[in-house]
Amino acid sequence: VIDINHITKVFNPGENEVRALNDVSLKIFEGEFVSLMGASGSGKSTLLNILGCLDQPTSGTYFLDGEEVNGISKAAISRIRNRKFGFVFQAYNLLPKTTALENVELPLLYNSDISSSLRRKKAKEALVSVGLAKRIYHKTNELSGGQQQRVAIARALVNEPKVIFADEPTGNLDSKTSYQIMELFQNLNEKGILIVMVSHEPDIVEMSKRKIILHDGKVIEDDEIINPKNAHELFVAANKK
Ligand code: ATP
Ligand code: MG
Repeated sequence: VIDINHITKVFNPGENEVRALNDVSLKIFEGEFVSLMGASGSGKSTLLNILGCLDQPTSGTYFLDGEEVNGISKAAISRIRNRKFGFVFQAYNLLPKTTALENVELPLLYNSDISSSLRRKKAKEALVSVGLAKRIYHKTNELSGGQQQRVAIARALVNEPKVIFADEPTGNLDSKTSYQIMELFQNLNEKGILIVMVSHEPDIVEMSKRKIILHDGKVIEDDEIINPKNAHELFVAANKK
């Protein structure tokens, strides 16, 4: 699905330039659950943003489902993002003082073909699917961190994306809540959604199916995880303690 070749990203070209990515080539296929690891500043977020078409590389090529993404119009890129991608961030990025439902409806507002009643229905279904049936009308600042992240995941899901990009999705959560979020990701992956996640927590990464390690903007390791840990089992075990 995703095929990038010799991707380089240079910030601030000139004297203070930062080569955040240096000749990265990767193929990511349908059904995968990929983790990007590496030290702070190694280029994980930069790579995730380029893969998610939130940012463009300085050089290199990007093919998505066989079509070249570089050089197409901004409108075409945002269409790809809206139709195929969902995003989850460490800081949730929800609108505060606004209900869970309204937050999840937001991405659908960009699609004028969807009536307000269908919008509402889809957003409710997404919230139910992440286990928040009882929090639909709560304001997001009245929810716990784990619940807020689930609202963010529902928002990412409401457009029925093929790929979810998540940057440190459990970075602000305790381990038990992290397992719940990872269980949700494992279930989504099982249903066929491709997941690309940034994390620097080894036990979280072990729940994905492929580990890519970056160092100074280069891929230094790319391994399949043969027996991914089961997030649900870890959650149950953590609750017994
Ligand atoms: P962390 O684990 O701290 O989130 P990261 O691996 O996600 O780190 P990136 O955010 O991808 O790292 O940053 C890679 C490098 O690029 C860093 O040296 C950073 O300072 C630089 N960088 C990132 N974004 C920008 C920007 N918008 N302008 C200038 N430099 C940037
Ligand atoms: Mg980062």
